[in-house]
Amino acid sequence: VSRLVVRNIGELVTCWPRVHESGHRPAAQDNPALGVVRQAALICEGDAVLWVGKERDLPELASEPKESHTIIDARGGTVLPGLVDNHTHLVYAGDRVGEFWLRCQGASYEEIARAGGGIATTVAATRAASEEQLLVGTERRLAQLLRFGVTTVEIKSGYGLSTAHELKLLRVVKRLAKDARQVLVPTFLGAHTVPAERKAQRGAYVDEVVTEMLPEVAREGLAEYCDVFCETAAFSVAETRRVLEAAAQLGLGLRVHAEQLHHTGATSLAVELGAASVDHLEHINAHDVEALAASTTVATLLPGASLFLNQAAQPPARALLDSGVAVALSTDCNPGTCPTQNLPLIGTLGCCRLGMTPAEALLALTVAPAKSLGREGRVGVLRPGARADAVWLASERFENMFYQLGVSPVAGVLVGGTIAHWDFTTVPS
Ligand SMILES: [Zn+2]
Repeated sequence: VSRLVVRNIGELVTCWPRVHESGHRPAAQDNPALGVVRQAALICEGDAVLWVGKERDLPELASEPKESHTIIDARGGTVLPGLVDNHTHLVYAGDRVGEFWLRCQGASYEEIARAGGGIATTVAATRAASEEQLLVGTERRLAQLLRFGVTTVEIKSGYGLSTAHELKLLRVVKRLAKDARQVLVPTFLGAHTVPAERKAQRGAYVDEVVTEMLPEVAREGLAEYCDVFCETAAFSVAETRRVLEAAAQLGLGLRVHAEQLHHTGATSLAVELGAASVDHLEHINAHDVEALAASTTVATLLPGASLFLNQAAQPPARALLDSGVAVALSTDCNPGTCPTQNLPLIGTLGCCRLGMTPAEALLALTVAPAKSLGREGRVGVLRPGARADAVWLASERFENMFYQLGVSPVAGVLVGGTIAHWDFTTVPS
C-alpha cells in the first residue's frame, strides 16, 4: 500500500477535537472543534488517513520501508480537510447570462420566472443536451471545485423534470462518480419546479414524481437523497410532504429547499420527517430555530445565492449556531442564482454577511456538510481512518481561506491519498 507523508505543516487543522492544542490564538479565537496541531505532519495510507500529529513524533512511524513513500513538504503552510459542498445543481446545460442582464436592470428572480425564464430556461437547454454533453460540462465544474479545495460534492438533478430527463441527469452523476477523484453524492430533485408544459396539471406532475420517477430512481440506485423546492412558486408544504414521504419509504434520505423567498412551514415539515438538511432558510422564524435545535437536521446556508440575487433577507446564522444547530455553508452552484465553484468565497460571505467566525465558517465547510451527507467522521475531517482528502494553503493561518476575499489561497489538494494538485513552487506568505 502506498504511503504519502506531508511534513513541515505549520498549522494542521484536523476538525478532530481530540488532538486540539489550545494557546496559539487569543482565547476568543480558539475553537477546540478545529482540532489544531502546530508543527505537524500527516500520513496517508492508500486512500485513508493513517496518522496525524506533531512532526517531532513522526520519525518512528515513518521509519519503515521507504520505497513506496512519497514525502511532500508543506513549507510551514496550513493543511486542513478537503472541503465538502453539500448543495449543488452541477448537471446542466446552457447559461442564464441574458437573465443576469435583466436582474442588473432591476428585474427580480420571481418576475423573470413568471415570464417563463429562470429554471425553465435551464430545463429547456438541459433537455436538449445529450448525456455526453452534460457529462463534459459537469466534469469541468467538478475540476473547478477541486481547484478550490472541494473534495466531496453533493449533486442534484432537477433540470430534467420528466422521468426520462431526470434519469438522464442522475445517470451522468453515476458515470462521473465511477471515475471522479472527488466523492459525489447524488440527490433526486424531480420536484424542483412544475415544468412549463405541465403547469395546468400540477397534480399529475407530482403523481409522476411519486409513482414513476422515485421508484425508478430507487430501483436503479441513482440517488442517496431526495430534495424538494418548497416555495410559493414551486411546491406547497402538502406536495412536499407527499414527495418526501414517498422517498423515505424507498429508503432515500431527505433534504428540502426551505423558506428561501417566503416562510412556508417547510422547516417544521423537514424536522418532523427527520430530514438530513434544510437549505436556504432566509425566512425562518424563532420557532423554526428551536425546532432545528431539537433535531439532528443540518441547516445549510447559501449566502452566494442571496448575494447574487441581491436579497435583503439573511438567514439567522448566529441564532442557529448559538442554539447548537449544525450549520453548513454551500455554493448552491447553479446557472441562475449562484454560478460559482468558489466555496472559500462562500465562507467569506458566512463571516462578513452572516456573522460567523472564521472557525465556524471552516466547520461549516467540513464537519457540518459531512454530517448532512451521512459521512460524519469519514470526510471533512483528518483523523485516522477518514478519507485522505486534504487542502494545503500557502499561508500560516487557516483564516486566510476566508480573509483573501474571492482569491483562493489553495495551493494543493490531496484526494483519496493522491496528489490532485500541489504547487511545489509556492512559498507561504
Ligand atoms: Zn438549490
